[in-house]
Amino acid sequence: MNQTSWIVAVGDEVLSGHTLDTNSNWLAAQLRETPYPAARIVVVPDSHDEIGAVLGEGQRQGIARIFCCGGLGPTPDDRTVAALGSFLSVPLIEDPGTLARVRGRVRRMYDEGRIPSPEPNSGNLKMALIPAGALVLRNPVGMAPPLAIPLPGNPPDRWLLVLPGVPRELRAAIEEEVVPVFCKGASATLYEEEHYSGVPESQFYPVLMRLAEEHPEVRFGSYPQGQPGEVIIRACSGDRDSLGRAMRALREQSPIIPS
Ligand code: AMP
Ligand code: MG
Repeated sequence: MNQTSWIVAVGDEVLSGHTLDTNSNWLAAQLRETPYPAARIVVVPDSHDEIGAVLGEGQRQGIARIFCCGGLGPTPDDRTVAALGSFLSVPLIEDPGTLARVRGRVRRMYDEGRIPSPEPNSGNLKMALIPAGALVLRNPVGMAPPLAIPLPGNPPDRWLLVLPGVPRELRAAIEEEVVPVFCKGASATLYEEEHYSGVPESQFYPVLMRLAEEHPEVRFGSYPQGQPGEVIIRACSGDRDSLGRAMRALREQSPIIPS
């Protein structure tokens, strides 16, 4: 079983550079703490076919958790739910609970004088349509319902998790329900790091070569930072003792003292 996640960010606005993909970055950091770390982050346009194609690839590869984020809004350029229906070969059906919530929110917006009618328009009603078989999750801060969809076939226990693109809605859904219910458990990977300053990154070449040979169960990476000479050396491993030994070796063998 492929115990990893894919993050699929959907949005023309991300591809055109109008919007920074903070959702994927934030979500990858959350997933690092779960048994389903991100193995791929992909951005696709608001295109029926391209959303379907990337989900199909994740499904073929048996990815355990596929997060599909964005394109759930009330306008015609939001195509994610229609694409999900086609991908799953299921009809879109009106979800009564979501419809009731949409009606309630529209009524409140009307009472606040923000919209001219207390009745939902076609855009609002579109948000109550969900692919048949999807579980509707709570959106504590907005209208678009997050969804959890069991992926068919083998291996079992694989889920497609569909999130609104608005960052505060995505975060609330992930923190309150998605991680606690669908990504339960501890991470299999531990991280440790050292920070250095005033050191050209290339100076770490010999020590990192040696560490890779002597500690094959630990994976090291070197990450130069904004200021010249600032470097983070970060290591990860599934084994706490191995990680501790490798980090001690880094500190001993490094020609430079950590800052
Ligand atoms: P959407 O759900 O795609 O209609 O997105 C609603 C809003 O959320 C957009 O107008 C963006 O401001 C924001 N947004 C969408 N995708 C992302 C993303 N990947 N990262 C950060 N913000 C996003
Ligand atoms: Mg969008």
